[in-house]
Amino acid sequence: MNKVDVKLWKIPIPEKPPECRFDWTKERPERVERCKYFGNLKAVVIDKGICSHCGTCYICPVRGIVVEDKPIDFPNWRKDCIDCGACIRVCPRYDYTPLNGLGEYIEAVAGKSKRFKGQDGAMVSEFMAGALEMGIIDVALFVARDEEFKPYVVHITDPDQLKDERITGTKYSFASVMPELHDSIKHVRAVGIIGTPCMISGLRKLQKVVPLYKQKVKLAIGLFCTENFYHWQLKEFLEGRGIDLRKAVKTDIKKGNFIVTYDTGEEFSIPVKEMEEIVPDGCKVCQDFSAVEADASVGSVGSKKGFSSVLIRSETAKEIFEYLKEKDYIEVGEVKIDVIKRLCDYKVKIHPYPKG
Ligand SMILES: Cc1cc2nc3c(=O)[nH]c(=O)nc-3n(C[C@H](O)[C@H](O)[C@H](O)COP(=O)(O)OP(=O)(O)OC[C@H]3O[C@@H](n4cnc5c(N)ncnc54)[C@H](O)[C@@H]3O)c2cc1C
Repeated sequence: MNKVDVKLWKIPIPEKPPECRFDWTKERPERVERCKYFGNLKAVVIDKGICSHCGTCYICPVRGIVVEDKPIDFPNWRKDCIDCGACIRVCPRYDYTPLNGLGEYIEAVAGKSKRFKGQDGAMVSEFMAGALEMGIIDVALFVARDEEFKPYVVHITDPDQLKDERITGTKYSFASVMPELHDSIKHVRAVGIIGTPCMISGLRKLQKVVPLYKQKVKLAIGLFCTENFYHWQLKEFLEGRGIDLRKAVKTDIKKGNFIVTYDTGEEFSIPVKEMEEIVPDGCKVCQDFSAVEADASVGSVGSKKGFSSVLIRSETAKEIFEYLKEKDYIEVGEVKIDVIKRLCDYKVKIHPYPKG
């Protein structure tokens, strides 16, 4: 399988990030540790094992913070950190109070796309496609997968691009959505992003601090989420069970099992309980199952097979949903809100915070 040609879909970005894009000199946050701000982020979030790997801190104006398939780091921070405090100001786990529950929503519904094939009902793809067609956004950041099912971010400007099934569907590994957003923000008019609940919280904190992100990020679709993984750990774990992600066309978590489907149709199933050792610590303090801060949250539980459960939270998401219905792009069904609520409660129960 060939890697999707990302270059075609990327807006040209200057090679070097401009020095200090935002004025972080105002209202400097208080320090917990007597060292540079990255040292504070490290002490309070990373070393405490509560970093969600959302990648919002990649905003670092000198691009010192590395967001890759390993814990977040800033090599040589003692020397290279310019001590602006940007990272701690946008980190959703600094001053962390877990969000949880179903959150506020205008409508709860099940939906299934008539034009795209997604993880469940492809409602995430539909929301972004609708937003593009309506002119609400001119680009959507999607998470595609490479030959090893490793996620990477692509820029979608035309709904037809979503017919590529390597772009739709769930990848159970951390994706660099927020770093990509930071790299692109100056070059887009209006953008939509898709993210796990922690990324949506990172975005919202960022939008409070940097007006540019409030102006330009017009749609944030949150995914229901219990846990995520580092790609290398997931790959190694599955290899240990004789499962080769290079042959996979779908990965899923259903009824407590991690399921890998091969291109041949062959299916492998492993109880998620057996994956406990590779669940990153930062996921174990997260209580937000339903992405309460998103414009719309989408997941699998609560709907029948082939449908996505959707919690419409903002007026923008509601407008898009009405558009999708009017155009007859989607089939609408009933959602079992009590089932989603049960999962929200379960996440709080298994992830107490502060940790006992
Ligand atoms: C790590 C993770 C854990 C999840 N856990 C649950 C769960 O416990 N219960 C539940 O009901 N649902 C869970 N989901 C959501 C579910 O798997 C589907 O993504 C959701 O139902 C949307 O399906 P769809 O067909 O509408 O989306 P599609 O139209 O297929 O679009 C999904 C889009 O999500 C984006 N995406 C995929 N992987 C990632 C990623 N790692 N990070 C950011 N964006 C990504 C891609 O851009 C992709 O196109 C989880 C999703 C993720 C990423």
